[in-house]
Amino acid sequence: MEKAINKHFCIQPFINVSTRVGGQNNVCANINLQDSNIRNESPVDFFRSDNVNNFKTSLLRGEQRAECKLCAYQEKKSGHSHRTESNEYYNIKNNQSNEYYEKMVQRLRISNLKNPLYFDFNVSNLCNQKCLTCTESLSSLLHAENKELGVSEDKNANYTTLDKSKLRALESAITDDLLFLHLVGGEILLVPEVKEILTKVDRERAGRITLKIQTNGTIIPDREWKNIIKKFKSTEITIGIPAFGEDINYIGYPADWKKILATIDHFKQHNINFVIGTVVSNLNIMILDKLFNWIQKNRYQNYFYLLYHPPIFRPTNLPKNLLQIAKERLQKVKMKFENKDSNKFLSDLIRLCDNPNKNSDWKGFCREIQMRDSYRKNSITDIIPEIKEYMNAK
Ligand code: SF4
Repeated sequence: MEKAINKHFCIQPFINVSTRVGGQNNVCANINLQDSNIRNESPVDFFRSDNVNNFKTSLLRGEQRAECKLCAYQEKKSGHSHRTESNEYYNIKNNQSNEYYEKMVQRLRISNLKNPLYFDFNVSNLCNQKCLTCTESLSSLLHAENKELGVSEDKNANYTTLDKSKLRALESAITDDLLFLHLVGGEILLVPEVKEILTKVDRERAGRITLKIQTNGTIIPDREWKNIIKKFKSTEITIGIPAFGEDINYIGYPADWKKILATIDHFKQHNINFVIGTVVSNLNIMILDKLFNWIQKNRYQNYFYLLYHPPIFRPTNLPKNLLQIAKERLQKVKMKFENKDSNKFLSDLIRLCDNPNKNSDWKGFCREIQMRDSYRKNSITDIIPEIKEYMNAK
């Protein structure tokens, strides 16, 4: 009898804890459940909890978890997801039998780890930008704008301050077993408390940890940050760039392309590794060709992934004709990314343009853009003139 194929195994709960800006502990960055919070359970205690053990057991049995809907969406749309990529990163094949995965977790000695190997920490929402596709829990400026517009989901929330429980959670997760520390903001390079904690990590321990930081590229690291970057085993900096040139000022408002170029130059001069990360949405899918050409010309490492939330900004929430324009432009981009996976993702993205979102919310998108444009005194037609006739934009 043929062995049943396990299509849902994922390594994340075996090795990782992701802590959200509100303190919620989850097994990965693609899940946002409220059940565990650093205010009553440390990230390490969460990692050892019965809930996480049950999660791991069900994945080894090949069961699909309801919590994993974002990966399911990404796999349906593009054939890959955070799950498939995480498995591949650890040389675990996808779509194998339950027995194969049992063997792999034994071989990698991850079946019952005491501490996570990977800690993914959403520090605070302190940020100097309010990207349209961001959320108020990740950008203090967007939170302030939402409050002024009367559309805040939680006007009393304070995602900016790092209280004691957050600082303790970060310190306690930096154990001797930790191999990767991934810090997400807001804009991490603006947060002094994080700099302080990382400065205090002793050299020996830091020498075993790969530090991953996400930045919007508008802040050049100061001397203390440079010392931190040198102290860790290695540092991977992702610069989030959604568009090329002046177009970035609309999507990543108020981003400054010249500052981003200055930061990149600085990284190059100081041999600081960086990669360009791009979230693909309906705001940039029609102009990504310019960004991709620039990335290829400069031979930068890059990756990109599809936006899922908020749904109004999903890449296929666009009229069919506009998606066809996006497709034609993307077809002209060479398959010459330094990161070979990006070549494959580009083909997937081109195919995606033929599949408009059945549950699209075009009216919701238009309402949102009209509200933001009128508040920010700019216009989406500055970056996508073709959109005008579909949404009565200025
Ligand atoms: S399948 Fe996706 S959502 Fe589920 S644990 Fe893995 S990475 Fe997270």
